[in-house]
Amino acid sequence: MRVVPGAAVSTDYVASYYAATRHAAPAHPPLAGEVECDVCVVGAGIAGTSTALHLAQRGYRVVVLEAARVGWGASGRSGAQALFDVAAGEEKTEALIGRENARRIWDMTVEGLDLMQGLIAQHDIACDYVPGQMHVAVKPRQVTELRRWVERTREHLGYTSLRFVPQEELRSLIASERYLAGTFDKRSGHLHPLNYTLGIAAAATKAGVRIFEDSRALDWENGDRLRVRTAAGSVRCRYLALCGNAWLGDTAPQLARRIMPVGTYIVATEPLGEARARALITNDAAVTDVNWVLDYFRRSHDHRLLFGGRVSYSGLDPFNTAHATRQRMLHVFPQLRDVRVDYSWGGYVDITLNREPDFGRLAPNVYYVQGFSGHGIVLAGIAGKLLAEAVAGTAERFDVFSRIPHREFPGGALLRRPALVLAMAWYRLQDLL
Ligand SMILES: Cc1cc2nc3c(=O)[nH]c(=O)nc-3n(C[C@H](O)[C@H](O)[C@H](O)COP(=O)(O)OP(=O)(O)OC[C@H]3O[C@@H](n4cnc5c(N)ncnc54)[C@H](O)[C@@H]3O)c2cc1C
Repeated sequence: MRVVPGAAVSTDYVASYYAATRHAAPAHPPLAGEVECDVCVVGAGIAGTSTALHLAQRGYRVVVLEAARVGWGASGRSGAQALFDVAAGEEKTEALIGRENARRIWDMTVEGLDLMQGLIAQHDIACDYVPGQMHVAVKPRQVTELRRWVERTREHLGYTSLRFVPQEELRSLIASERYLAGTFDKRSGHLHPLNYTLGIAAAATKAGVRIFEDSRALDWENGDRLRVRTAAGSVRCRYLALCGNAWLGDTAPQLARRIMPVGTYIVATEPLGEARARALITNDAAVTDVNWVLDYFRRSHDHRLLFGGRVSYSGLDPFNTAHATRQRMLHVFPQLRDVRVDYSWGGYVDITLNREPDFGRLAPNVYYVQGFSGHGIVLAGIAGKLLAEAVAGTAERFDVFSRIPHREFPGGALLRRPALVLAMAWYRLQDLL
């Protein structure tokens, strides 16, 4: 099976562990006929639901159009490691937009961590949030890089909760021979991403937001009064917020050219029992290695191992990717050879060329946020808050992000993927050095 973002796809949730363990949530009807509002939000992932909630809290009348279902995209399939900073890293951001702006972006990403926890607490979102996240090194040079990263984060940014974990300690935390050292951050963590997204959507609905599922926004007419069209209706609004990310496709081709949907896959084992699951990651942190083509894993609430990684550029092939991802898991945890895989699924990570988030406007009243490049669990939430601020007239913080320069992927629609395959082959080579 090959799934191309933007093309017609099933609107059912993919058969993931998250879909199987999601909380009951009301189905939202498809849009029929014309509705009026202040702001139309396209996409009901973390970015869209957060935008809608924050706008409704400011008194705006908001309509959300979702092509499939709430949390159907990356937000409901994610590895769900809640991380500070942008994917490119603060140092690279500083090189692009200067020290002061980079510092502001850093601060906003840390605020994103607090926002996420605030949303969970305030709206009573049952999403299995667990504090603690680790980055781990598989090569000696990565040990040096992690040490330097911790120092810079403390000294340059004053962020003190991140600490270096030497190999002896790491061996007591992760039952794998593979890792040489790591970092631990207690302010970062992990959660059930679909239940988190459904929880924000429920809070938005309670605040007056109207959500329409199975309602793909096809296009829109620009102007002071915008008109956003779906197959069976339209939304008249003053502002449009495009939060469709990797799935936006033909709805906004000028945005689609700026991100590459990169396939990544997760397997969920059968329940291992508490003792066996605990022994794998004793501090229950989410873990990711620091390779370009990375492995990431964590325990679930019901004592499974969720293991992800192995990007692909040729679409989502459930059979081969399940097998390949299980093999990756066994490379890290050979002691799980007897364990069954209950679920396997894939999704697209929204990568920009420079791995910086891409926020901006297509017209004075048409905003977009996308390209979180693997850091979207936290960034998409704060993006929604910033977008709402911008619509309400205080665009200063949103515009710090929109200063980051972006380029389109070379080669147009047909050659984008081969170009990325070549680039990633080069990155894989770096992983071997
Ligand atoms: C397997 C996987 C693992 C990941 N792991 C991590 C991780 O560990 N940590 C991390 O921070 N990030 C991770 N990410 C990335 C993170 O999940 C995303 O960056 C984030 O969820 C993006 O949120 P979003 O709301 O922008 O997009 P999405 O969640 O993709 O939501 C976009 C929504 O818009 C809808 N849509 C698109 N076009 C239209 C249209 N024209 N009309 C109506 N609706 C439309 C789609 O149906 C979709 O529901 C991972 C992603 C994947 C796929």
